[in-house]
Order: sequence, then C-alpha cells, then structure tokens
Amino acid sequence: GPGGSPHVHAGFDAVLLAQPAVPAQSLLADSALNSPLSDALGHVATAPCWTLMLAYPQAVRPGLTTLGPQWNAARSTHHRIAWLARESSKPGRNVIERWTVQASPAWSAEHLEDDAVRVQAKLIRAFAEVTGIHAEPAHAATRRWRYAQTTQPLGRSHLWDAARGLGACGDWCLGHRLEDAFLSGLELALAVA
Ligand SMILES: Cc1cc2nc3c(=O)[nH]c(=O)nc-3n(C[C@H](O)[C@H](O)[C@H](O)COP(=O)(O)OP(=O)(O)OC[C@H]3O[C@@H](n4cnc5c(N)ncnc54)[C@H](O)[C@@H]3O)c2cc1C
Repeated sequence: GPGGSPHVHAGFDAVLLAQPAVPAQSLLADSALNSPLSDALGHVATAPCWTLMLAYPQAVRPGLTTLGPQWNAARSTHHRIAWLARESSKPGRNVIERWTVQASPAWSAEHLEDDAVRVQAKLIRAFAEVTGIHAEPAHAATRRWRYAQTTQPLGRSHLWDAARGLGACGDWCLGHRLEDAFLSGLELALAVA
C-alpha cells in the first residue's frame, strides 16, 4: 500500500495455500499463527528441474517428418538429462519438431544458481549427445523449476487446521504428478466443506 505499509485483507472464513511446500512453510513462518501445519510442511522435500525447450521449424519439409531418433520419449542415463520427449509427437500437437528436455534432479541441484544461458548451452550439448540432433534450434528456452519434483511427499492428501481455518494442498502431499495435485485439492475442498 501507499508508504510501504502492508495492505491488510480481513474477514475470510479460511485461507488455503496451493503452492509448493517450501514457500507455504515460509509464509506460515512469517505469520504469527503458530499453526501445526508448519511442522508438517517441514517433512516434505522436493528436487529442482532445469528444463529446456527446443523447436526446429526448419525440419518440417515434404517427405521429412522428424529430425533425429525414431523414438519420441526416453528416460536418459546421461549425467545431465533425466527425460526427454518430442512434443510434436503428442496427439493433436502442431507438427513443428519440438522437444522438451528435463535435466536430472542431481544435475539441476548442482547447477541451481548457474546462469540460465550457460545451463541452456550445456543442456543443448547433452541433447545433441543423446539424440544425435546437431542442428541449430531456431527457438530455445530454458526454465528453472525450483520445486519441480517431490522426493519426500507428505504422505496424506492435504493439511487442514480447522481451528485456524488454514489449509494447504499440492502435488507434494501425495507425489509429483498432476493427478496427485488434483486429488489433494479435491480432498482439501471436501474437508473444508
Ligand atoms: C517440467 C515439468 C514437467 C511436468 N510434466 C508432467 C507430466 O507430464 N505429467 C504430470 O502428471 N505431471 C507433470 N509435472 C508435474 C505437474 O506439473 C505438477 O504435479 C502439478 O503442476 C502440481 O500442481 P500444484 O497445484 O500442486 O502446484 P503448481 O502447479 O506448481 O502450482 C503452485 C502455484 O503456486 C505459485 N506460488 C509459488 N510460490 C508462491 C508464493 N510464495 N506466493 C504465491 N504463489 C506462489 C506458483 O507460481 C504456482 O502457480 C511436471 C512438472 C514439471 C516442473
């Protein structure tokens, strides 16, 4: 607000946090609420994931449908890369040759604070080693997902502190997939209702 004072909102029946466990925990720590949710959130652990996205519009030519390998997705044992998938092979997608490359949790953690331009160059080199695609991508983007994959889930579907009207949900409650996130949000909503 004006003068740097916080704008105070009030009158809510409940507050539900739908964010990664670490920021949820620090938000609670900054509050004076002293909720037992904070302790529970401390048991959750997540790993980061540097992700590279590549596009090769120049590869779309008559009689030439794909660049590089015949496979469309793979788990990789390359020290930098854990997973890669050809986006253009997925149902209903644009035909332009596109790949999503996920760095391994260990490599992502080791290079978490590295410059994104350097990370991108390293991942493009690793991508070429894994796929044999050495063409220059027309488009490349890199994104750091700091809380990408749950390594230690909460072990229950949601957190709900009825006394304080405070809840938390997210994939990290049960695992690391969209389905886990969906079920967590649904269970929390049912608990509140
Ligand atoms: C690269 C990648 C690929 C994936 N691929 C798949 C896949 O193919 N299939 C699959 O099932 N799952 C996949 N996942 C996992 C899936 O994306 C997650 O399981 C799902 O998005 C989790 O939903 P969520 O609502 O728990 O958290 P999120 O979708 O992460 O939402 C949390 C929200 O909280 C916000 N937030 C963070 N901090 C704060 C703060 N301090 N204040 C306010 N807001 C904040 C974030 O901006 C975000 O919008 C993938 C994840 C990544 C990173």
